[in-house]
Amino acid sequence: MRRSLVVANWKMHGSLNDNNHWIKNFKSSDLKQLTNTDIVICPSYPYLAQLQQSLLGQQNSHIFLGTQDVSSFANGAYTGQVSLSMIKDFSVNYVILGHSERRALCFEDDKLVADKAKAVMAGGLNPIVCLGETLEERETNKTHQVIKRQLQAVLDSVKSEDNLSNLVIAYEPVWAIGTGLNATAEQAQEVHRTIREQLTSVLSAELAANIRVIYGGSVKPNNAQELFNQPDIDGGLIGGASLDAGLFLEICTAATGRK
Ligand code: PEP
Repeated sequence: MRRSLVVANWKMHGSLNDNNHWIKNFKSSDLKQLTNTDIVICPSYPYLAQLQQSLLGQQNSHIFLGTQDVSSFANGAYTGQVSLSMIKDFSVNYVILGHSERRALCFEDDKLVADKAKAVMAGGLNPIVCLGETLEERETNKTHQVIKRQLQAVLDSVKSEDNLSNLVIAYEPVWAIGTGLNATAEQAQEVHRTIREQLTSVLSAELAANIRVIYGGSVKPNNAQELFNQPDIDGGLIGGASLDAGLFLEICTAATGRK
């Protein structure tokens, strides 16, 4: 079985004070019980140092830092952007890419997301590439077509199979993000299965079997277990519920107990 993975996407929330409370609550629980789950916290860039200092450590080797994006450029005159080498200075291991909010609000297209994923993998970090259909696309039966196109762009951009072992896919139906409307376990499993089939059709069987595919979209403690028990769902990308350390821990516990 692939290792469970749960990712907290804090989006543009948090402050030094709020984060300290969150960290205190998170660390007050027995994190050792979650050692078979990789847990990734993705704050906004200014808080990376705070989390690096207070959360990472030898006894928490299953806890990682992530960011919500990264520049596609290595360095130079790109005002406002943050590079891969900069986030590496803060022990970042994971990078969320192609979140639907960035695709919609920052006009990121498949090509840019694929280029970023390629750069992140070449730099030895793990991209978490988000794929997902809008409500209109689902209602006009375009879900599989959209997911296939978004995933294929990433697979096409990476030539060497070696780099792909770091890839993580997050299936996040746009209509389920922040709306309280999660995909049912069956709906999510159906899309995850087709993602796995696409990976298998392009990559070696071993590599395709090892890439983790997680689900995101209104995951809460009351629906996490059923979602995570699906055979092709390896964990979750959590937005709203990750802002509460207690709720987030309950979701991590569900991932740890997945069957
Ligand atoms: C997300 O932003 O990636 C997300 C899944 O948000 P939420 O859990 O709030 O739906």
